[in-house]
Amino acid sequence: MNAKNQSQFSVVGGGIVGLCTAYQLAKNDLSVTLFEQNMCGSGATGSALGILWPPSPLRLSEFKHLHNAGLLKYRDCVEELEYISGIEVGFRRCGGLEIISSQSQLEMAKTETESFSKIDSENQQITLSLIRDNELNILEPKIVSPGFGAIVSPFCAYVDVRSLLNALKVACIKMGVTILENSPVTGLLLEKDRVEGVLLKREPYLSDGVIVTSGFSMSDLHPLLHKYAFTKPVKGQAILLQLREKIIDRVIRWKRIFIRPQENNRLEVGSTTELKGSVDLKLTDHARIHLLETISEILPPVKNGDVIEQWAGLRPVSNDRKPYIGPVPEVSGLLVAGAHYKIGLAFGFVTAEIIHGMITQGKPAYSIASLTPRLNC
Ligand SMILES: Cc1cc2nc3c(=O)[nH]c(=O)nc-3n(C[C@H](O)[C@H](O)[C@H](O)COP(=O)(O)OP(=O)(O)OC[C@H]3O[C@@H](n4cnc5c(N)ncnc54)[C@H](O)[C@@H]3O)c2cc1C
Repeated sequence: MNAKNQSQFSVVGGGIVGLCTAYQLAKNDLSVTLFEQNMCGSGATGSALGILWPPSPLRLSEFKHLHNAGLLKYRDCVEELEYISGIEVGFRRCGGLEIISSQSQLEMAKTETESFSKIDSENQQITLSLIRDNELNILEPKIVSPGFGAIVSPFCAYVDVRSLLNALKVACIKMGVTILENSPVTGLLLEKDRVEGVLLKREPYLSDGVIVTSGFSMSDLHPLLHKYAFTKPVKGQAILLQLREKIIDRVIRWKRIFIRPQENNRLEVGSTTELKGSVDLKLTDHARIHLLETISEILPPVKNGDVIEQWAGLRPVSNDRKPYIGPVPEVSGLLVAGAHYKIGLAFGFVTAEIIHGMITQGKPAYSIASLTPRLNC
């Protein structure tokens, strides 16, 4: 390390990806400073429902492989985190049910569950199966099915996002990470084709490497990030409902909306996907009504529930909807990890492992060629 350097690595952004990355590097004896413009978790991560939903077996790609890998190691990762931080993160493998809404969706579900055994021999733990309405009725009696059954996903889990963020922050600090909140990074410090640190409002901060994990705005930091890691926001709104009694035990998916059981007869419901919406966090009646009406179709008791909270977040997404993980071309020492769109919670730990492997061994722990930073497509 250069004598002037203040840490070996600067991580920009304190969401799930930045915190997991900082923790992984510091755990392996690298010195890390993490810069967060607001408070850690104030981006998309803080608005997530915390659902860890397995990918469809029909999606044959490195992305899917990585998604599975992330889920398979989740329990071990949270156990380590809980041990180091002393904070329980509320990980529960509750199982999930996707309620099938039409004949065409049923046909797709059949292909999906049949192809599962052929495709997923690599990890037999993540199973999917199709059930009929009579079995669905035994599992979740309050659900009124449209008559096509459901896909059962026993590996589906959830985590308490607030507790996970607190645990990650405490674990980072215990491993020696310097966390600087309310510290926006305004640009990158580049010398010819090498990154030498980050720019803060008043002064540069030197480091041997910079890892950009700053969510939907990450491509604004430098033209090279705009060129190779273009990321934009997709707004999502969610609600918390208070009911009189517990009505479900599992995570339910219906028409792309998730319903997550909470303690004290509460349900989290989300999220909208506002592709053409604004990039502000304004809450709308339209979103609340859409979420309520959609879940009432299969869970009528929801009509009598009270909406006790509504919130919005901006998910980071690339044009091809795949994340960026790895070094940025044309410059050395600069890496990005982001654009995890709707599944960043599931990807945080595995992304951090990949970044660590690239930094220390020059190669990732998994095959990710299609996910490395690429020209804005
Ligand atoms: C309503 C909703 C529900 C969701 N539910 C789920 C779910 O159940 N399961 C799931 O897996 N995913 C879910 N997601 C998606 C998930 O939240 C994202 O994929 C994930 O949080 C992305 O993490 P990140 O660390 O890349 O980005 P972020 O969490 O956005 O973190 C980026 C951080 O960088 C900071 N930052 C930005 N610019 C700068 C700068 N210049 N300097 C310093 N810091 C900066 C931001 O303040 C932010 O804290 C949901 C998203 C939404 C909106």
